Amino acid sequence: MDTKRTILVIEDEPHILLGLKDALEFEGFSVLSAGSGKAGLGVAQKERPDAVLLDLMLPDLNGYQVCEELRRTSPLVPIIMLTAKSQEADKIRGLEAGADDYVTKPFSIGELVARIRAIFRRTQRPSEAPTFRLGEATINLAAHSLQRDGKRAEQLSFYEVELLRFLHERQGQAVGRDELLDKIWGLEASPTNRTIDNFVVKLRKKIEKSPDKPVHILTVYGFGYKLVD
Ligand code: CA
Repeated sequence: MDTKRTILVIEDEPHILLGLKDALEFEGFSVLSAGSGKAGLGVAQKERPDAVLLDLMLPDLNGYQVCEELRRTSPLVPIIMLTAKSQEADKIRGLEAGADDYVTKPFSIGELVARIRAIFRRTQRPSEAPTFRLGEATINLAAHSLQRDGKRAEQLSFYEVELLRFLHERQGQAVGRDELLDKIWGLEASPTNRTIDNFVVKLRKKIEKSPDKPVHILTVYGFGYKLVD
């Protein structure tokens, strides 16, 4: 099922690029490569890959800049950031720049491939109700966008959409963090509870009138979250 998926790898270190290319092709993916940020953006625009693996440290633009630019030109493409940094702040910054996931070098090819497959599984899921209202916000799950009444539409990242989709399917019910981690991030991604909390903070800023006093994405203490209109 994954055999015709094309993955663009933007990485300036030739031996890492070659290793990734070999491994991903062995796994049945078609691989495009670029050795700089600008080259990567060009290839992405021209070839429309199904996913992008993006190194954080590049010779021209940094990975955050490339990520933001990719998000502008290709709002829907899944982006996995490859980072040598394991600082929480770098990960959060990457996710804020629009990355859907990240792996920290050195990573195993097995883990990376598992994450790529997980992202493709999730994007294949049909969405029955692509748009719904939440307070003053209209959320379009298919377009990955959110629009507050009277404001410009903004893009949502992949995990923001998945979190909203999952909570919306169970609107009015408390959903546990463990279940959200399991169903959305998948066991292979080994995220922490803070991962979810960070996305909830970002979503509240986009949806709630008073993000500090949320009325739509509620915390169920010691358990998880609940979506109410
Ligand atoms: Ca690099």
